[in-house]
Amino acid sequence: MTEDVRRCTRCTLPDYYPNIDFDENGVCNVCKEHDSKYSNIDWDARKNKLEKILNRYRGKGEKYDILVPFSGGKDSTYTLWTMKHVYGMRCLAFNFDNGFLDPGALAFAKKAASNLDVDLITYSPSFNLLKSVYKRALEATGEFCAACVVLMPTAIFRAADTQGIRLIAAGFSDMLEAPPAGSCIDRVRFKSIMKSVIPLKKLKWDYFFPSWKRMFKVKQINLPDFIEWDLPMIYETLNRELDFGKSMADVRYDCLGTPHSSFLIKSKTGIGKYEYLYANMVRSGVISMDEALKTVDEREPKTAPEGFEEFLKSLDCDISILDGIKEKSIHNFKGRNTSIRRIAIKLREMLP
Ligand SMILES: [Zn+2]
Repeated sequence: MTEDVRRCTRCTLPDYYPNIDFDENGVCNVCKEHDSKYSNIDWDARKNKLEKILNRYRGKGEKYDILVPFSGGKDSTYTLWTMKHVYGMRCLAFNFDNGFLDPGALAFAKKAASNLDVDLITYSPSFNLLKSVYKRALEATGEFCAACVVLMPTAIFRAADTQGIRLIAAGFSDMLEAPPAGSCIDRVRFKSIMKSVIPLKKLKWDYFFPSWKRMFKVKQINLPDFIEWDLPMIYETLNRELDFGKSMADVRYDCLGTPHSSFLIKSKTGIGKYEYLYANMVRSGVISMDEALKTVDEREPKTAPEGFEEFLKSLDCDISILDGIKEKSIHNFKGRNTSIRRIAIKLREMLP
């Protein structure tokens, strides 16, 4: 990466990251926020809390105690392994296909579930429905990931609810994978984006929760909030126990739409997905700065990635969606009142 770009001396985030600030040592504000959030965590206390939660659910379901969203990637595979082997939970693994799932990831998910002796269900919503939502999202906001951010938690909730499971254990690491501030979408905003084009009745099951009461009956925990997410140890465990066949250097996405979404987001904001996520990894000490910059240089599409036009065509769109993309944003649509949103999240996080 030969360039005249100023980068955070700790995490590599560049000066074109929206609203970035550097202190006198060249450390960025995102690093500062990270430290205030993640330093001083009492992991022993967190682990005790996890045990208490799991004790309340173990043996309580008819067939399953817990649902584990399972993509076949390192985080969800390690979560499934831990829930089954460390905590003795009766797990149902839930694999979700957003229409772009890498077939290799699904093949591994099947193999791993069978090795773990865990039931696996896969849900693939009709591609016609997904396509209409992705197309509208692309045309209105210049990106399509937001549609999935709404779709996936709903699908996971529906799977737990219909199977009578009251606890979901996900492997989402907030520290490593939280999206950039301001890029999150709530269901009110999603509705405002979709409503003029797609009848809400068609979206109801896959994109919206049922009543609040029913929704709050199903709780969710994220395992990386309770135990230290030590990636070298995770890879070592998975390769030893499940023939995972990947190493730290293979960090990649199971969604085949990622290079395209990264390119679109880069076209809109200046910074792509890979560059942002690799900075997270540097900040958390998972990889070195040089490795991150090299990988981003190789993987972050600088021009439209290979197969971009075919990808757009598969969504009934074309290259004209790039016209005026900088002005398109989810924030041009009305979202949920932030304090209501905060309360809703708090309520969901409260455990019975
Ligand atoms: Zn930084």
